[in-house]
Amino acid sequence: MTDLENDLRAAIRTIPDYPKPGILFRDITTLLGQPRAFRRAVDELVHPYAGLRVSKIAGIEARGFILGGAMAHQLSAGFIPIRKKGKLPHETVRVAYSLEYGVDEMEMHKDAIAEGESVILVDDLIATGGTAEGAVRLLRQMGADIIAACFVIDLPDLGGRRKLEDLGVQVRTLISYEGH
Ligand code: AMP
Repeated sequence: MTDLENDLRAAIRTIPDYPKPGILFRDITTLLGQPRAFRRAVDELVHPYAGLRVSKIAGIEARGFILGGAMAHQLSAGFIPIRKKGKLPHETVRVAYSLEYGVDEMEMHKDAIAEGESVILVDDLIATGGTAEGAVRLLRQMGADIIAACFVIDLPDLGGRRKLEDLGVQVRTLISYEGH
């Protein structure tokens, strides 16, 4: 394991049986609270894209906003919030996406992206990939050119990375945990 993986792993807290029995919740609030770990995670997420022309970072509510805001600053890009339905004040586009049990909907503002703009998608963690897949569909519907999707944590056993790669999206993750 690399130093980076060790540092990040040490900064992430695991909470068993949250929000329901059998789930190991990977809590990044402890990472966000540690200046070095937070900075390191953001630096590593943006590293391959420094020097590229990135128009916007799209962050998935809510932890994707924190990482995405910092990445946007670092890359001198704009930021787009992808939100749960009913939260955005102007005209929106909406997509349904699958959760472990059932479906939900997410939205972004119709005028958040211009056709052909280059976008990086970000969230804290990818599990089944249902949430990120919904965000990819929404962004592409608005004409975005998705350069990559970035996550601090991958749960590879749940297949999310594969799902995005099958859609032709390049995926960057920093650490992975076995199981779910
Ligand atoms: P999925 O759509 O299955 O890829 O789930 C990804 C979304 O659910 C992300 O926004 C994560 O923050 C959250 N999530 C899923 N599983 C976990 C977990 N084990 N620990 C923390 N967050 C999770």
